[in-house]
Amino acid sequence: MAEQITLRGLADIPVSRLKGVGPKKEASLAKVGVTNLFDLVTTYPRRWVDRSNEARIADLVPGEEALVLVAVRSVTKRTTRNRRTMVNVNVGDGSGRMDVVFFNQPWRERQLKEGLQIALFGKADTYRGGLQMSNPVVDLIGDRTGRIVPIYPQSEKAQINTWEMAGWVEETLRRCAERGIADPIPADVLRSNKMIDRPTALAGIHLPDDMQQKELARRRLAFDELLRVQLVLVLRKRAMERDELGIAHTMTGKLVDRFYEALPYDLTGAQSRAIGEIEADLAAPHPMHRLLQGDVGAGKTVVAIASMLAGVEGKHQAALMAPTEVLAEQHATSVRAMLDGVTVPDPENLFGDRPLRVELLTNKVTGAQRKDVLAGIADGSVDIAIGTHALIQDKVDFSSLGVVVVDEQHRFGVEQRAALRDKTIDGRTPDTLVMTATPIPRTAAMTVYGDLDVSVLDELPPGRTPIVTMWANGPLMEQGVWADIRTEVEAGRQAYVVCPLVGESDKLEVASAEETIERLAFGELEGLRLELLHGQLPPDEKEAAMERFRSGEADVLVATTVIEVGVDVPNATVMAILDADRFGIAQLHQLRGRVGRGEHASTCWLVTQPNEEDPEAGNPRIEALVATTDGFELAEVDLDLRGEGTLMSTAQKGRSDLKLASLRRDRKLVEQARASAFAIVDSDPELAEHPLIADELDLIFSDRDEEFLTKG
Ligand code: ADP
Ligand code: MG
Repeated sequence: MAEQITLRGLADIPVSRLKGVGPKKEASLAKVGVTNLFDLVTTYPRRWVDRSNEARIADLVPGEEALVLVAVRSVTKRTTRNRRTMVNVNVGDGSGRMDVVFFNQPWRERQLKEGLQIALFGKADTYRGGLQMSNPVVDLIGDRTGRIVPIYPQSEKAQINTWEMAGWVEETLRRCAERGIADPIPADVLRSNKMIDRPTALAGIHLPDDMQQKELARRRLAFDELLRVQLVLVLRKRAMERDELGIAHTMTGKLVDRFYEALPYDLTGAQSRAIGEIEADLAAPHPMHRLLQGDVGAGKTVVAIASMLAGVEGKHQAALMAPTEVLAEQHATSVRAMLDGVTVPDPENLFGDRPLRVELLTNKVTGAQRKDVLAGIADGSVDIAIGTHALIQDKVDFSSLGVVVVDEQHRFGVEQRAALRDKTIDGRTPDTLVMTATPIPRTAAMTVYGDLDVSVLDELPPGRTPIVTMWANGPLMEQGVWADIRTEVEAGRQAYVVCPLVGESDKLEVASAEETIERLAFGELEGLRLELLHGQLPPDEKEAAMERFRSGEADVLVATTVIEVGVDVPNATVMAILDADRFGIAQLHQLRGRVGRGEHASTCWLVTQPNEEDPEAGNPRIEALVATTDGFELAEVDLDLRGEGTLMSTAQKGRSDLKLASLRRDRKLVEQARASAFAIVDSDPELAEHPLIADELDLIFSDRDEEFLTKG
C-alpha cells in the first residue's frame, strides 16, 4: 500500500492534474493563489448554506429574512430614470415564483443565467401584489446536492465560481481517499485536546453533513494553524536556551536589598513576582529573553532597577535603553534619584563601599564627558549605562555587560538582538528584559512574542485614586469640561488639553495645536496660563515649556500626542482629549495615564462632536474607556473591535496566514496550541521523531515568516 499523502505531497501536485483544469483554469486559479492541491484544500469555504434552514417561496413571510433555493427563470436589465441600473430576475422553486431586483449591480445580468441554481438570502416584501426581494445575498450553488452547500470565495475577475472550486476540492479529497491523508499530530495530543483527525476534518470542512461536523472540522484545522505557529516559536525559544551561552549571575542580594530599604514603599505583589521570575532567569546559565508587560504606572521602573542591580551584584554591568534620547534622559534622572545613596561593596576600597556609578550616554553627551563615560563603560567602573539603542552599537565597548533592559519592545527587533549577541563577553549573551506599557491580550502576546517569557504587572501600586473618565459628547457638555478645568486650576491643580489628531502630517498637527491654544486663550480658558507643546518645537523650547508646566508656572499644557509617554506631573488632575474618537483605544489609554499620578482625584474628559445623523449613537471605544482603566481589559476590547489585523498584519502575508483561526475568537485554542507545542518540542527538541511536522513547518513558513514570528 502506498504511503499516506502529506501536505507536502499535495503541494507537489499541480492543479492541472485535476479534471477540468486546463491552461485557462490553471491561470485563473493561479490568480487567486492556488497552484497546487495543498493550496486548493486549504482554500476553505467562506460560508456554508444549510438547506435544512431553507424556506420555499410559498412560505415566505413579508418582512422576514429567509433563505430560499431557487432556479433562475429570466433576467432583464434596464436603466431607471435617475440613471441607476436595475437587474430584474424572476426565480422559482416548486412552490411558486417571485421577482428579485438588484440595483446598481449591472454584472448580475452576466452572473445569473437562466436555469442556474442559486441560494438567496434576504427579506421578501410585497410589491404590486407579488413577492419581491431586493439586493439579497446571492450564492451560486450550481447543481450541488447535499444538505450543506459550501460556498467558496469566488472571483469574477479570475473567472472562478464556487461550484467549480467545490468540484475540484471534492475530486482531490476523493482521490486522496485511496491512500489516505496523513495526520502528523501525535494521537495523544489530539486526544487531550479533543480534536478529530485531519482527514475527517478536511472532509468535514469541505463536505459536511451537518453544521456540527463543520464546526468540529474548523476547530481541528484552526488548531493546526495555531499549533504550527506555536511550534516555530517554541522551537526557536528552546533553541536559544540551548545554544546561546548566558551568564549564571551570582546574586548576593546585598545591593538589591539596599535598594528596597531605600524605597519609600513596599513592592506590590506583582512587582515581587516579576522580580522573582527575573532573578531565577538571571541565576540560570542560559540568557534571559523576557517581556515585562505592565500598564502605565504599574511600576516597571522598580523592576528594571532591581534587575540591573542584581546584575551589578555579580560584578557585571547593566544597560537601560530607551527608544528616544528624551526618554533616555528621563530614565537617567529617575534612576539616579532612586539609586541615590546606594553603594556597591568594593573589596579594593578600605571602607568596603563605593558609590554606584550611573551614566547617561546619548548624542548630547560629547567631548571630554563622552570620553570619560566611554572609558568607564570599557573599564567596568560604570555600573549602569543609560541611553538609546546607540548603547549597543559598535563603538561602545562594555567591560562586562550582564543585564540589558529595553524600554518599549516594538522598536527592538531582530537587528538589535543580533547587535546584543555581539556584545557578549567570551561568547555569553547578556540577559535581556524588554519592557512594554502596551498591554497585549494574553493569547495575542503568546503569538506575537511567543519566543519570549512574559512577566505581567497586573496590579497597580496602592493608594492611587482611580481616574474618573467621562464622555463629553457635543458643545453643551464640552462647556462642562472647561468649567471643570477652571475649577481645578482655582484649587491649585493643573490640566492637559490634548489637541485633535489631524492625519499623519506633523505640520497639520502643529497647526491644529496652535489653533486650539489660540481659541482657548481668547475663549474658554481666558485668563489661565496656557503653555503649548508639540513635536516641532526645538528641543530646548520643548524642555522649557515642560519645565514651566512642571514647576507650576503654567496652569494648562495644550499639547499634541507628544505627551503620550514619559510626562510625569503629579499635580495635573484633569485632562481633556479633543476629538477623542479619532484616537485608538491604546493611545487614549496611554494619554489618560498622564493624570492620576498624584494624591488628588483625577478626571479625564473625552470630548467628541456628536454624530450628526444619529446624535444618540454610541461609541464603543469611548464607552470602553469610560467603563474601565484596566489596560488589559481595554486591550481585549480593542482586539474585539479591530480584529487581529492590527497585531498580525505582517504575518498575515504569505503562507503563514491564519486562514481559519482567529486570535480573537479562538483564545482557548491558542492556549491549547501553545501547551501542545511545548509538549511536543520538550519531548522531541529537534522534531526528529516528528518528521512530518517538521516537513509541514518547512513547507508552510518561509524564512521571512519565521523572522517575523520571532522578532522580539
Ligand atoms: P511605569 O513605568 O510602569 O509606568 P513607574 O515605574 O514610572 O511606572 O511607576 C509609577 C509611579 O509609581 C512612580 O511614581 C513610582 O514611584 C510609583 N511606584 C512604583 N512602585 C510602587 C509601589 N510598590 N508602591 C507605591 N508606589 C510605587
Ligand atoms: Mg515608566
